[in-house]
Order: sequence, then structure tokens, then C-alpha cells
Amino acid sequence: MILFKQVEPIQQALDKFRQEGRSIGFVPTMGALHRGHISLLEAAQKENDAVVCSIFVNPTQFNDPSDFEKYPVTLEKDIELLIQSHTNILFLPYVSEIYPGGTNNLPNYEIGFLETILEGKYRPGHFQGVCQVMHRLLEIILANNLYMGQKDYQQCMVVKRLLELTQLPTQLHTCSTLREPDGLAMSSRNTRLSPAQREQAVTISRVLNEICNNLEPGFTSPLLQSAEQKLVNAGFKVDYVSLANADNLELLDNWDGQQPVVALAAAYLGEVRLIDNMLIQSGK
Ligand code: AMP
Repeated sequence: MILFKQVEPIQQALDKFRQEGRSIGFVPTMGALHRGHISLLEAAQKENDAVVCSIFVNPTQFNDPSDFEKYPVTLEKDIELLIQSHTNILFLPYVSEIYPGGTNNLPNYEIGFLETILEGKYRPGHFQGVCQVMHRLLEIILANNLYMGQKDYQQCMVVKRLLELTQLPTQLHTCSTLREPDGLAMSSRNTRLSPAQREQAVTISRVLNEICNNLEPGFTSPLLQSAEQKLVNAGFKVDYVSLANADNLELLDNWDGQQPVVALAAAYLGEVRLIDNMLIQSGK
């Protein structure tokens, strides 16, 4: 694996790959890698000649400064995992390489209502930060294929929109969520949970499962309220438990029994904010 910290040398290396006719798969991360990240790298490996992983804890997407400061960093372990999974290139840029003109006055992206619902509503500015970093990374890497996790469902929608806006030549692949044996979605933030919180954390996937199993056509609020109450009983402070159209993320108060549906939740255990979602299989 080759490690790059600066833009110019990685661009030269990738130009060479392209001249040799090698396709490039890209997996952007914020590090503290776990098996969920590795599954994206494996998907990239299967479909490309070379795999690039980036590790960059992007300051502009953290609306909460203490979340940024406490974001887990496990660089040595990450590098070992990347070597084991045969990643060709690690891009570990300095902040000044990503934002050479500083982080003020960065562009604003037209992502519409995605910015005002769910994660957008509870993390103001978060998706502008995601667009800023992803636009820059995508322009540097110019990958054929980009691999992101369904775990961050709304983020995938935002990046899809970004690719439309920028007309960059990269195709987005959304990969399914890897879970711990009890059902908790793997996340770098899980390492910040105390043992007692870790036990309670599984409730978030349990209530999403229950919503998926019990959803009937009609008003969705009784099911959502009951799920929220279960989270509160397990010690969570809930941001949202919602149902949305899986294709466009429009919130669903009343399901017609036909629309494809995704159930999404975000809630705090202590200081740690967890998110998860599940797609409801159609044909109910
Ligand atoms: P992060 O490092 O949290 O920014 O995540 C980097 C990428 O890994 C994003 O595309 C995430 O959606 C994806 N990811 C995070 N957790 C999981 C998981 N449990 N399963 C699959 N992909 C994941």
C-alpha cells in the first residue's frame, strides 16, 4: 500500500493507473475502521483494478465541536487493516490539502429538502460539509466507482445529488450495513459507548426491525411513537424515528402500502449519537 498525504503526488500516481487502463474504486472514510468499512473495500476490490481509501476527519461536517474533538482515531490499526485488505492507496490528507483556502467561504450546494429533514434538520450544516469534502475528494481521486454505506442512507442520497450537480464521472454504489451479532450497526462511534450503553444500544436496531415487521398501510405515527417510547425507556434521547420513501426520502405520515419505505432513527446514548436505518421489503 502506498500512503499519500498531499494532493499532487496522489494525482500523479492515479494518472499513471488511468494511463495503464486500470479502473479505480474509492472508499472515503473518517478512520477508526471496522468491518463495515472493510466490506466497502472488498466491494471496491471486486469491481476495480485499484482501490483507494481516504481517511479524513472532515472538520466542516461536524456541527458539534465536541463530537469532532472526541471522534475516535486509531491510525496504526487502520493502516494494518488496510494492508490486510489489499488496499492499493491510502490518502491521508492534511486539512490544508483539502481546504487550501481555509474552511470559510466554501461553496454552497443545492441539495434541496435533503438538507432540512432528518440528519439535515438535527445537524445543521452537516450535509454542506459532506458535499464540500466529497466534491474535493472526488475531484482529486476521479474514481470510476465510489463505495458508500447504506448505514448513512441520507448521506448516500446527498452524494448522489452532488454527483448529478457536479457531473463528475464517478458511479456511486451503496453497500448494505454490516451489523454486530446482536444487530447493532457497526460504527466508529460505538467504541465511545460504556459497556452498559453498548448493551442498550441494540435497542435502536430492534425498534427499526419492529417497525419493518409491523408496518401496515395507513397512518404511521402510532408505530413511530411506540418505537420512540421504547428508545426512551432504554435510556436514549431521541432525535427522530421516521419513515420515508426509500427512493426520494420524502417523509411518510401515511403509507399507501405501495411506496418503497425506509425506517430511520437517530438518538443519543449519553454523549454518543447513533444512527441506523432499515429498508422495508416491498410486497407486504
Ligand atoms: P465513516 O468513516 O463513518 O464516515 O464511514 C465511511 C463509510 O463507511 C461511509 O460510506 C459509511 O456509510 C460506511 N459505513 C459506516 N458504517 C458502516 C457499516 N456498519 N456497514 C457498512 N458501511 C458502513
